[in-house]
Amino acid sequence: MGVPRLWHDCVGKTICLEALASISKHGQALFLSPGRGEEADMVERIENHKQVERQAIMQGLMETFVSRRDCFAVQLKDGRYYCNKSELTIKHIESHLKGALTLGVYLLDQNGMAKFAVIDADDEQELERLKSMQSRLQLPSYLELSRRGGHLWFFFSEPVSGKVAKNFGLELAKRYTINAEVFPKQSESSGPGSCIRLPFGIHLKSGQRYPFVGLGDWRSQFIELSNPKKIPLSEILKYQYQEPQKTSKRNPLNGEIPLWEKVKRQITVLELVENFVDLNSKGIGRCPFHDDKHPSFSVNIKENYWHCFAGCGGGSVIDFWMKLNNLEFKDAVSDLAERLGIR
Ligand SMILES: [Zn+2]
Repeated sequence: MGVPRLWHDCVGKTICLEALASISKHGQALFLSPGRGEEADMVERIENHKQVERQAIMQGLMETFVSRRDCFAVQLKDGRYYCNKSELTIKHIESHLKGALTLGVYLLDQNGMAKFAVIDADDEQELERLKSMQSRLQLPSYLELSRRGGHLWFFFSEPVSGKVAKNFGLELAKRYTINAEVFPKQSESSGPGSCIRLPFGIHLKSGQRYPFVGLGDWRSQFIELSNPKKIPLSEILKYQYQEPQKTSKRNPLNGEIPLWEKVKRQITVLELVENFVDLNSKGIGRCPFHDDKHPSFSVNIKENYWHCFAGCGGGSVIDFWMKLNNLEFKDAVSDLAERLGIR
């Protein structure tokens, strides 16, 4: 058969169909068998196909990751970025993919709108938490490794205000007790604001290129990320961080709400525990503190406490955190407070 292998490689992938359609426009469908003496022609057509595919991928990546084109960030050797106030073009994306320069992209466009949010975990422990969150979360997300940890990307079906994007990331980090930076950092900005490394480039400090996890080879990653799965607005609005209430009620004993009380107000037992224990709809699951053959661990959702019927104890979010991480009360409170962004 004279059908080129390339065609087999990419059957069903939108980009390749587009590429083929565009070649067909010039009167040469790539998947037609060549006649005698047309081998050279075929090689040229495959080259054309690759070129068209490359263009489609770069356009797609631009569409996915670039919020504004009037300026862009370029990474310096020490890992920092500077803002280049000229127009970002496909040529820049191409240079980035080839490793000739490393781009950062701004989260907010000129109107302060964002089309994605990123949770940036910068050590291995938090990376593990990101992975666990990704596997539990019923929303599409993409995990890209980074120099020390990872970036978890969430793409939106439509641009949302910087504030909504930021609060979406903060809420997820809170619910899954991940101590990480959330992008966008600013909820509004007239200037470019903060930037994040555009994926697939070479990190100038480590000299490495970092892949997305679980998407196959580089080409498959390019194709997926040039048209990623997106989160609908209705879902984005379900995850919106609320600043802890600045209540005027003062504790008469010491004039201020104690930190442990702030922690308890910020997260329920169910919200914390379900990150670590698979619970059924009644709040019952296997106890994480003993070798549990029959589910003997339960969360009382109404009364906001947990309990193990096999004798592992029970109590509040703080009791759970102490036992899970083998911490003293004071350390458990301050660790949880830090993860929840409470000061
Ligand atoms: Zn137990």
